[in-house]
Amino acid sequence: MYPIKLCNKANYGSKRKLDIKYIVIHYTSNNGDTALNNVTYFARETLQNPASANYFVDEKEIWVSVPDDFIAYHCGGKTYKHKICRNSNSLGIEICMNDKKGNIRYDSIKNAIELTKILMKKYNIPISNVLRHYDITGKNCPAPMVENPKLWQEFLNSLTQKPQTEEIDDDMKIYKKIDEMPDWAKASVKKAIDKKIISTDKNGAVTVFEPNLQSLVWMDRAGLFDKK
Ligand SMILES: [Zn+2]
Repeated sequence: MYPIKLCNKANYGSKRKLDIKYIVIHYTSNNGDTALNNVTYFARETLQNPASANYFVDEKEIWVSVPDDFIAYHCGGKTYKHKICRNSNSLGIEICMNDKKGNIRYDSIKNAIELTKILMKKYNIPISNVLRHYDITGKNCPAPMVENPKLWQEFLNSLTQKPQTEEIDDDMKIYKKIDEMPDWAKASVKKAIDKKIISTDKNGAVTVFEPNLQSLVWMDRAGLFDKK
């Protein structure tokens, strides 16, 4: 799904025995780094104190460093605030969060939100199990989201927003046939079909969402269907 540059084996653990129950969010704490910089570094180096993450995210890319089914060393500590979340049952996502001047890169955060949503769905992880590194060990990571809890709250809020393609209300009416449509819309829709502004399937059926009917009528009144 995402490009992978496998982490140096010395920096991460064995195959996972426990199910993935948590997602832990980190920041790289570097300024102006990229996801690719990071996976390259972790692939090359043998670290004195082994450290790793499953994913690195910047505003352009998402890279895998440690595959999901292996334990990355991202939230281990001498003492823990959290009772259950550990490396062995969590995925670690590192966000390249600061630009060269140390300002927050919101587009990196946006990408991390998309990744987190996908992983939540894949492993059936509830929002209450999406945590900051800080929530596990008390470490100041990701610092901008520890120092400004509102930023973290916004991150969590964004996870509950459905992707745009699913935003259409389940109850919203979809019209397939002109006969089913309200009278005030029929003539305009017919014109739009005749002018091939709306396409039909092989059965002559269309797919028009209820709120679009009004727009079609307005377009018709504006004369947009009469051109050529
Ligand atoms: Zn961290």
